Amino acid sequence: MKIRQINWVNALFLTLTPIAALILPIVYISRYGLHWLDFVVFFIMYILTGMGITAGYHRHFSHRSYDAHWAVRLFFLLFGGAAAQNSALRWCRDHRIHHQKVDDREDDPYAITRGLFWAHMGWVYFESNQDDDFTAAPDLKRDRLLVWQDKYYLPILVGVGFLLPALLELPVGRPFAGFLFGGLVRTVFVQHMTFCINSLAHYFGTRPYSVDNTARDSWWLAYLTYGEGYHNYHHRFAADYRNGIRWYHFDPTKWFINGLARFGLAWRLTQYREEHILKARIETQLKLAHAKLADAPEEFSARVRARLDAAREQLEAAPKQFDEARASYQALKKQAHGRLALARRDFEAAREEWRLRTRQYNFQFQAAQARWALLLAAVSRVHAHGHLPPLG
Ligand SMILES: [Zn+2]
Ligand SMILES: [Zn+2]
Repeated sequence: MKIRQINWVNALFLTLTPIAALILPIVYISRYGLHWLDFVVFFIMYILTGMGITAGYHRHFSHRSYDAHWAVRLFFLLFGGAAAQNSALRWCRDHRIHHQKVDDREDDPYAITRGLFWAHMGWVYFESNQDDDFTAAPDLKRDRLLVWQDKYYLPILVGVGFLLPALLELPVGRPFAGFLFGGLVRTVFVQHMTFCINSLAHYFGTRPYSVDNTARDSWWLAYLTYGEGYHNYHHRFAADYRNGIRWYHFDPTKWFINGLARFGLAWRLTQYREEHILKARIETQLKLAHAKLADAPEEFSARVRARLDAAREQLEAAPKQFDEARASYQALKKQAHGRLALARRDFEAAREEWRLRTRQYNFQFQAAQARWALLLAAVSRVHAHGHLPPLG
């Protein structure tokens, strides 16, 4: 049985820091003005502690979506600790339970079903009598680096989170400005930005990959949360190191991890294949379509279901064929590079065939997508006009 008591340290910290972060800068600026270094230190600390949480605590330690050099892991633990969001061990344990028990009022630590405020920060005001239970994270409990950070969490928070920014502004004689902007104001900013993932990302947006939980995708939230706004995708494919999967999705955490990989500091970046992602989208749309058809006459809905199944098959077959064609072309290319007995002319012919097949694949895929969209549009009109739409 989970018993929750008010954690007074957390409660006071969470209540007083936003007030102090609002008043103290006004008083300080009116007396001493602003210096360009205040902005630089704020920004550097904002990025580093944010990455400590999203690239470190979240995508590396909680989900193991990639492996990293020990120096990078240490960096995550120092700067993630400086974000004042608990030790990595406890943060990740809570987060794994959130994924396992998502939306469960009792067991999800920040269940949105208990309200927006609870999911955002209300839950931090309380401590549970199960705070030393690590059954959700046995691997993390065995990690000596994580156990070390858990033990020295408070000195790390004070040292890296507040003394370091003060030190950075010492050369210009403004250590208090460093403490204020790089420490206090930045802590409040980063906390609330990341809290938004638990609150707003379970409240606003679309659910393209799963309607089984409240997690949602919203592009605008990605701008506030270091790229974690694509939360519906994340809950469906939590082991993927990306949250925004398209190149144009704003996901600085993904770009940061890519950067680490380029320098050999991160590896085994997990990425789901397009066909799995497509399948999840189709399944979700199909589920919604079936729900919509529940009230339609049996004969009609059976006909639509049969067409949906056929269209789905065509839609899913196209990427598979493309993958097969690519695999055989790549094998051929490898042979050509290895100067195996493959005449230049044969290779050119294979390349031409590959080009044709790609074009054919694209055509098939687009046609299947169009058929699918038409069917879904027909289903969506089933109730809107009170009659059965033509299926075409
Ligand atoms: Zn979530
Ligand atoms: Zn997660």
